[in-house]
Amino acid sequence: MSLANGRHYLAIPGPSVIPDPVLQAMHRPAPNIYTGELVELTHGLVPDLKTIAGTKEHVAMYITNGHGLWEASLTNMISRGDKVLVCLTGNFGHGWADVARRLGADVETIEFGKHAPVDPARLEEALRADKDHKIKVVMTVHVDTATSVRNDVAAMRKAIDAVGHPAVFAVDCIASLGCDRFEMDNWGVDVMIAASQKGLMTPPGMGFVWFSEKARVVGNGNDLRTPYWDWETRAKPVHLYEYFDGTPPTHHLYGLRQAVDMILDEGLENVWERHATLARAYWAAVDTWGQGGNLRFNIAEPEYRSHAVTTLSLGGPDGTRLREWMTEHLGITLGISLGFGEIGSDEAAGYFRIGHMGHINAHMVLGIIGAMETAFTALQIPHGTGASRAAAMVLAERV
Ligand SMILES: *Cc1c(COP(=O)(O)O)cnc(C)c1O
Repeated sequence: MSLANGRHYLAIPGPSVIPDPVLQAMHRPAPNIYTGELVELTHGLVPDLKTIAGTKEHVAMYITNGHGLWEASLTNMISRGDKVLVCLTGNFGHGWADVARRLGADVETIEFGKHAPVDPARLEEALRADKDHKIKVVMTVHVDTATSVRNDVAAMRKAIDAVGHPAVFAVDCIASLGCDRFEMDNWGVDVMIAASQKGLMTPPGMGFVWFSEKARVVGNGNDLRTPYWDWETRAKPVHLYEYFDGTPPTHHLYGLRQAVDMILDEGLENVWERHATLARAYWAAVDTWGQGGNLRFNIAEPEYRSHAVTTLSLGGPDGTRLREWMTEHLGITLGISLGFGEIGSDEAAGYFRIGHMGHINAHMVLGIIGAMETAFTALQIPHGTGASRAAAMVLAERV
């Protein structure tokens, strides 16, 4: 028998759960794109998107996903042949580095593996060795969604400053914006990218590049600029159509307006605290299960774990068995492993991820913990007991 009927819960690290008010805001006839409500709504999103990123500088909006943002940011920052330094902590850093390579950049990388954060001392060392300042951009992912590591962005900035290196500092916050604390200006980030479908709780299809005046000046006149990705016109449109270089994403804009209102109404500090608390509830459950079985955190140190996604290893093939059984029987879908062995291999089948970003609350977390416990039991996967209680203790203490 299946117990999966009822509302399905897609608990993968993006697209995240879309709030009903966001869906409802999008359910309407096409608005006029030349005058009226949609125009005001678009103008109004600009300051609020800057608030969420913690910046007073610039933002460009795009009709795109995260991969498009990788290209958007790079084509604005560099010229063909320019050197970039990418700090790698999982699949998503590799993805951004690959785009840089294919655009003709000279890509240097520092590999930190799949189980650890960026070590700022090694970044500092690499920049110190770059005496002629050939490196134009330092790139990192804040939260790597594959490994669920959370890098210390402020510490990386300090490493850059310690050497007095002039490189532009660019950060991918696609999995962390609206989930983990991020302060673009305070942390000295020059370029930051995030898409609509994760912490911003809106369907996939919109993306944003925030950039500092420094990055704007450095990138001026570079030879990779293309008309569609050029951030200048989007950030400072003279005509309305320049915001999106053509027809705006009408319905996404209504959805995003609602989602941004929800974030600002809750308050950024509260949004971050909610994610941190719910993440700690998962961690307590995982600690408990791990005591009687093979379940392990991919990132051992809590200090470096994302509050939006948790990558776990159970050993192949149990990770995949667990995921598939939960979808079929319990109506919950967890995330697949990414970047651990070939797809379909035993290594890959040993990992899985829980998405806990955006529109989530205590009962959703407790539901998944209970569902995982059910799956462990049904599949006879050894596990420690008392996970729900451990999670409840974390939550009860907080509210
Ligand atoms: C999801 C994600 C991406 C890719 O986004 P797509 O919309 O799938 O192209 C890039 N970087 C990070 C950190 C992500 O979490």
